[in-house]
Amino acid sequence: MLKVLYVAAWGRSGTTIVDNILNGYPDVFSAGELRYLWKRGLVAKQACGCGEPVGKCPLWRDVLRKAFGKNRPLPRDVAALQARVARARDTPGLLRRPWSEDAERYADVMSRLYRAIGEVTGASLVVDSSKVPAEAAILARRPELDAYLLHMVRDPRGVAYSWARRTLHPDRGTLMTQHTPARSTVNWLVWNGLTEMVARRYGGRIMRLRYEDLVADPRGRIESLLDLIGIPRADGPFLDRATVRLAPNHTVSGNPGRFRVGDIEIRDDDRWRGEQRFGHRLTASALALPMAVRYRYPVWPIRPRRAPTLQDSDLTQR
Ligand SMILES: [Zn+2]
Repeated sequence: MLKVLYVAAWGRSGTTIVDNILNGYPDVFSAGELRYLWKRGLVAKQACGCGEPVGKCPLWRDVLRKAFGKNRPLPRDVAALQARVARARDTPGLLRRPWSEDAERYADVMSRLYRAIGEVTGASLVVDSSKVPAEAAILARRPELDAYLLHMVRDPRGVAYSWARRTLHPDRGTLMTQHTPARSTVNWLVWNGLTEMVARRYGGRIMRLRYEDLVADPRGRIESLLDLIGIPRADGPFLDRATVRLAPNHTVSGNPGRFRVGDIEIRDDDRWRGEQRFGHRLTASALALPMAVRYRYPVWPIRPRRAPTLQDSDLTQR
């Protein structure tokens, strides 16, 4: 049975890095944020990870042919269906049956797509980093797929900093979406709460991964995820514990980081610690309590770096 890993998270939590790394294993295919295949890929004609517009990429043409044959739904219709059934507020309802007719139709589209990707690419694991808890809830209830959930969490202050920055989107030529620290943090709470609700449906097939733990030990964390799913670690992209060799991919949408290729060292993007405005940090810290503490984040972040003491160097030499 095809394995599918759904990556759920509030945006800017490091899901694109995980997507890129996993795609470097021979048995794995990362689709990126697959939910945007329709709206951004086929309707807005945005670029696939390979550089071609999604509608012109030979791999996605094969996948769509395999999944739907002559009965391929109109991209606009699927996008509209998605907007009706897979919103955050739909999540609790999707954990119960019966589903609405629309939800059943959307679940069928998702399932056909995953299976066609498996057949066209030959991968035993398809990664979908769309991040939306409602879709993770749908996937948990598809008996024809062996579904796993990766729940990624990042320090809410780092997340708020990232959403507040003005960043140009290379494949759209426009500014990336911005949110105020309050909005980012409220969504952080809602998204993580809903993902936890969905995670109960995944039994033991779930891993929660903090961005900070990933960047501290990228290879170790990715390999334990592969072990959980039962995917071989051999011939993966790691050159050492933190450096990966990335080849071009076929991700349909996602953070601009999906276009990165070559040898890349995974490092903590901790600019927020030095650069975040006090008011922003205060807002994010106050709102995120007590969930942030539950994820082992400090109530108020202090700079973790300090000069090595004699005891520290003693420890490393031992
Ligand atoms: Zn492509």
